[in-house]
Amino acid sequence: MEVRLSGWEKSLPEAVEIIEVGPRDGFQILPDFIETPSKVQIIDSLIQAGIRRIEVTSFVHPQAVPQVRDAGEVIRMVQRHGCQCFAMVPNLIGAERALAAGAEMLNLVVSASESHNQSNVNRSIDESLSSFEAVFDLASEAGVPVRASIATVFGCPFEGHVPIENILSVGHRLVEMGCVELNLCDTTGMANPRQVAHVALCVMDEFNGAASEAVSAAATRIAMHFHNTRGAGMANLLAAMQNGVTSFETSFGGLGGCPFAPGAAGNVCTEDAVHMLHEMGVATGIDLLGLLGAVRQAERTLDMTFPGQVIKAGRTCDLHPLPNKN
Ligand code: ZN
Repeated sequence: MEVRLSGWEKSLPEAVEIIEVGPRDGFQILPDFIETPSKVQIIDSLIQAGIRRIEVTSFVHPQAVPQVRDAGEVIRMVQRHGCQCFAMVPNLIGAERALAAGAEMLNLVVSASESHNQSNVNRSIDESLSSFEAVFDLASEAGVPVRASIATVFGCPFEGHVPIENILSVGHRLVEMGCVELNLCDTTGMANPRQVAHVALCVMDEFNGAASEAVSAAATRIAMHFHNTRGAGMANLLAAMQNGVTSFETSFGGLGGCPFAPGAAGNVCTEDAVHMLHEMGVATGIDLLGLLGAVRQAERTLDMTFPGQVIKAGRTCDLHPLPNKN
């Protein structure tokens, strides 16, 4: 029988881009230091499974996050095979270290809500944005593109709802400085699918659609980053995808956490998202079996059980023998 398609199904893209962020968002919340060769081996295996962009590490101060004290070594040792290896940088010093280590893109972070930015980096949004100008200058001299992650886009744990105007104005400041990609983050898992659809439409219109063509020839790329803190991560990804967003940050095994909800689930899980997307006929370019193998190996390497679900249940197409009732 012919598959019947409703309006929203027709709006699905043929392919999406999965940006792996487990080595940054996931590793940084693990209390025990992961030896550098183990980190590199996990990243290498994810790249071998077809990941084309990966946030390898973060160049925050090693005293603030001891887990990333080997950031430079990790990024130097990874076998890239054409995968874009980028790094989070909080400031100019971090940017200098990341560029020296060979990061192919820098990822800045600023919150869309004032109190979250204050609590996160101890400065106002405006002070953060002003401090980024030196980073954009340095990266531009090095010929390295800069993207930015905007935190608390879908809600702030201190202020609650964040007006769309705040998100757009922070986005405009970043784009004016030369930001090539805006990554909208649901930092503490407060988003719901209806809200995501609204934000996606507003932001795509403003930066990625007709409106941006009037400003500049090159549209700014839009990515989204959801945490599964309240179980809505995958639904939010679907809502974003139906409304034109085609780049998503996910984390292998569903690693990652929420500093305001200890023990809560982490990021949208890479292999669960890839499995769902492939079942829906949306391509990712990732070898799911290879990815599942890499994630199972990472579970053994880190000696932990990940929250991801497909590694436990297997793929939908992995059929079971009929139980023998004799
Ligand atoms: Zn995150």
